[in-house]
Amino acid sequence: MDINLKCADCKKSYDPYIVRYSCECGGTLDVEHDLESLRKLDLKKIFEERWRSRQKPYDSGVWRYKELIFPVPDEFIVSKPEGNTNLYDAGKAGKYAGLKNFLLKHEGENPTCSFKDRGMTCGMTAARRMGAKIVACASTGNTSASMAAYAATAGMLSIIFIPEGKIAYGKLTQALAYGGKTLQIRGDFDDAMTLVQEVCGKLNIYLLNSINPYRIEGQKAIGFEILQQLNWEVPDWFILPGGNLGNNTALSKGLIELYELGIIAKKPRIAVIQASGANPLFLMWKNKTPYKRVPHADTIATAIKIGNPVSWKKSYRGIEWSNGVVEQVTDQEIMDAKAWVDAAGIGAEPASCATVAGAKKLVEAGVINPDEKVVGILTGHLLKDPDATSNYHKSSLGDIGIASRFANAPVQIEPTLEAVRRQIGTLL
Ligand SMILES: *Cc1c(COP(=O)(O)O)cnc(C)c1O
Ligand SMILES: [Zn+2]
Repeated sequence: MDINLKCADCKKSYDPYIVRYSCECGGTLDVEHDLESLRKLDLKKIFEERWRSRQKPYDSGVWRYKELIFPVPDEFIVSKPEGNTNLYDAGKAGKYAGLKNFLLKHEGENPTCSFKDRGMTCGMTAARRMGAKIVACASTGNTSASMAAYAATAGMLSIIFIPEGKIAYGKLTQALAYGGKTLQIRGDFDDAMTLVQEVCGKLNIYLLNSINPYRIEGQKAIGFEILQQLNWEVPDWFILPGGNLGNNTALSKGLIELYELGIIAKKPRIAVIQASGANPLFLMWKNKTPYKRVPHADTIATAIKIGNPVSWKKSYRGIEWSNGVVEQVTDQEIMDAKAWVDAAGIGAEPASCATVAGAKKLVEAGVINPDEKVVGILTGHLLKDPDATSNYHKSSLGDIGIASRFANAPVQIEPTLEAVRRQIGTLL
């Protein structure tokens, strides 16, 4: 049983253990599994036996599915472990979205508080398998936090390239704390991305941006784990946010493989939600026009503020397979939905809440039926972006055009029993 690297465009194959991030033709690469051999195994039984296992690496919600992710000898695996995240009833957020049967998979419950850990455990394992000593990425967000933590676990040096100017230091804090070497270059994000690719090619450093096909493999486990939590019963819909579009590429790739292996018999539909200020996939899908990057992407949901996503083509393939849809939501819709996700006691960062804002919009448009079974993916933890949350509740987002329609602001009172009674009296 082995894997292959295959171009998503021209189908040329490459040795999976020689470092390569794209095809000669410029296309992105897929890890291709030997489905013929995999069909001979009772994978469902194997996965069920490993459920809640204490044995490494199967205690991980990624490596539990090792045969379908990356069949590599255990000694290479870098795991914290990750995954095993909760699948919540959406509660108030479900009512807000207008759905009766709405579950939220909280990927903010991973070791560094975003789903990026699922891809990173696989990417870092690939780095070790290739013999890399140094890893790098260009990112100011959750990817750099995750990479720095996994590099620390693996005992590798990690280098993070960040652009100059406005930096989301809230998220970069984790990367700095985990010991990532951070290089701020004089240029914008695209310059940082170009430079990191050149550096990795010339200096024998392993690149862990989401163009890396092994990261996509690890992220497939979100879908596998949701299905296992549902006793392999396929929901009607999966909904998730789209930025660089690696996550929905992974979700659909995993579902396609399960379908081809006969582990699931039904195709769920996938809805990808983009911010209206960073919506290249939405425009392409809605208008049936060729792909075009969006200049000057802008949204409060910084994790999906991407105008030129690397995985758009692989992502589109999955949407077509699942008879899926692409929707866009405004920052107002994202922050209002977030207020309900948070008030349900679940909580997530802004980009994650595009999921719930999108669900509501698709229900209102009649695309999703209120009775259908829907699983939304929350990609990052509430505390990843405390500024956005507290500014919303303090009604301080007016300058960027966001009204705090569901604010829960602190109230100042005199230090007396009477004052307290007056405040909570209305709540009793
Ligand atoms: C990376 C990220 C996304 C976007 O995922 P893509 O794979 O880039 O589409 C969404 N939400 C959070 C919290 C993220 O960290
Ligand atoms: Zn090619």
